[in-house]
Amino acid sequence: MKNLLIDAINFGLPYAYEGKPAAYIPELSKMNPKHLGVAVVSMKGEMWYSGDSEVRFTMQSTSKIAALMLAIMDRGEQYVFSKVGMEPTGDPFNSIIKLETMKSAKPLNPMINAGAIAVNSFIAGANIEDKLNRLISFIRKLCHNDKIWFNEAVYKSENTTGYRNRALANFMKDANIIDGEVEDVLQLYFRQCAIEVNAMDLAMMGAVLAGDGKSPVTGEILIPKNIARLVKTFMVTCGMYDASGEFAVRVGLPSKSGVGGGIVAAAPGKMGIGVFGPALDSKGNSAGGIKVLEYISSKLDLSIF
Ligand code: GLU
Repeated sequence: MKNLLIDAINFGLPYAYEGKPAAYIPELSKMNPKHLGVAVVSMKGEMWYSGDSEVRFTMQSTSKIAALMLAIMDRGEQYVFSKVGMEPTGDPFNSIIKLETMKSAKPLNPMINAGAIAVNSFIAGANIEDKLNRLISFIRKLCHNDKIWFNEAVYKSENTTGYRNRALANFMKDANIIDGEVEDVLQLYFRQCAIEVNAMDLAMMGAVLAGDGKSPVTGEILIPKNIARLVKTFMVTCGMYDASGEFAVRVGLPSKSGVGGGIVAAAPGKMGIGVFGPALDSKGNSAGGIKVLEYISSKLDLSIF
């Protein structure tokens, strides 16, 4: 496995050089585009890694799957999906158009920004701090890492420039989709996106999903099986933005990417894979990371299809 991961990084690197870090959140543009790392965790908790697997980066949209699981555990599937849909969009992750043109203003799914901001507002807690602490302690369990916290500079950077997310949230408040005050929801969402992890943390989270909710290290059930299944389905249909279709053909694994350069993937019953490469392609996915996953999936015949 170690050699396979070294080969996967070498395969992915030339593609990483073609991408660029996200710039619309100014702090993210400072990331080193040459970084590329991968980590794998098996169902028995064995770990392998290669490349820049220890470099820390912000979860961005990879956090959306954790927030969704927590919101469903807090409020129930019925409530969450009375406010957010289950369909892929084919539009970019931050698109606003469907909110107004669809008959109901319900965001189409919980993986696009609109849906994720709504989901955020359903997380239980007395105030933002309480909700954030609950979310972070859940993510710490999923990643089996007690040190996880959020990056203040990235949070501030998005908070000062997140006009479009503010527009989405205000629109949804008007349409009675989100709970609570708009600014509180955004403050939680921006901090959630800035939670810092490394490729190994994402691989661990992928392994929990691959094991239907069970920690590969402690054996503890962290997520009910039906919720793990539901989240993996969203990862297949909408996890890679509007490139989810091609990714399903080429890699064939439930995966979620983020503009921080991370991708979390789950090979059901086999392993979790975390990749990190901040140079993004035109759809906002890690350019090198996608290739690393493509290489591993084809060599180990991991596609679920
Ligand atoms: N914080 C980012 C945003 O809301 C997350 C986007 C992403 O990773 O797709 O724009």
